[in-house]
Amino acid sequence: MKLENRVAVVTGAAGGIGLAIARRYVAEGATVVIADLKAEAAQAAARELSAQGPGKAIGIAMDVASEEQVNDGIARTIKDYGRLDIAISNAGIQIVNAVENFSFADWKRMLAIHLDGAFLITKAAIPQMYKQNAGSLIYMGSVHSKLASPLKSAYVTAKHGLMGLARTIAKEAGPHGVRTNVICPGFVRTPLVDKQIPEQAKALGISEEQVIKKVMLGDTVDGEFTTVEDIAELALFFAAFPSNALTGQSVVASHGWFMN
Ligand code: NAD
Repeated sequence: MKLENRVAVVTGAAGGIGLAIARRYVAEGATVVIADLKAEAAQAAARELSAQGPGKAIGIAMDVASEEQVNDGIARTIKDYGRLDIAISNAGIQIVNAVENFSFADWKRMLAIHLDGAFLITKAAIPQMYKQNAGSLIYMGSVHSKLASPLKSAYVTAKHGLMGLARTIAKEAGPHGVRTNVICPGFVRTPLVDKQIPEQAKALGISEEQVIKKVMLGDTVDGEFTTVEDIAELALFFAAFPSNALTGQSVVASHGWFMN
């Protein structure tokens, strides 16, 4: 098992990509704290994963944009399990709109969940990781950390911002044995993507099928969605990497949509 005796916090893990990461980590022996706005779904997921073992999971309520809730969740994790090895800032939302129609409130909400959330998790996790002289921080970026698409001004800005955060913290935290890396998925069929298919179809005046085939998968090498399991595999790779050589990096898994 690659993550035996490791303790991980994964935000936004009640569903979608985060849940797949939690499942993979528990299968590798980790104790995983599933931190999500949806407390009941987080607890239900944790029960299911604990029953599967060999690791275990616990579900807690957390709004990643709230400093108090992030600090409480991380403090509780350290108190209950005695350490913190992996923290994944994964919680996210998508809002699709032309910039002239994008409300300032939506802009701020997007940056708060993606960027404030990543900053708060980092700040809360790092003192314990420094004590251990080891730790792995993982940010859920996107192909949109590397390129832009119309109608996604706030999302693209936030996902590009995570690259800057990861690189800066890699330099600050490296001397303390703490690594930071960014996972950049292409389109993955989760509720976040399902919601935007009809929204994009309406905004672009095309069918939902065209959104999937042309907008989402048109530039992939094989017309395939990336899967939650693909992303969980990368999250395991970053967390279990055996040295501090791999830091400040980003890996794109997108069926060749974007090539570094
Ligand atoms: P999802 O909608 O399936 O899951 C997101 C989870 O985050 C949900 O459980 C939700 O309750 C939780 N969440 C939302 N706001 C929160 C908050 N303020 N505090 C705590 N939890 C909150 O989405 P997903 O597709 O699994 O996305 C996960 C991450 O992957 C996001 O950062 C997203 O931007 C990124 N991503 C997704 C795709 C994709 O195609 N699905 C591609 C690239 C990157």
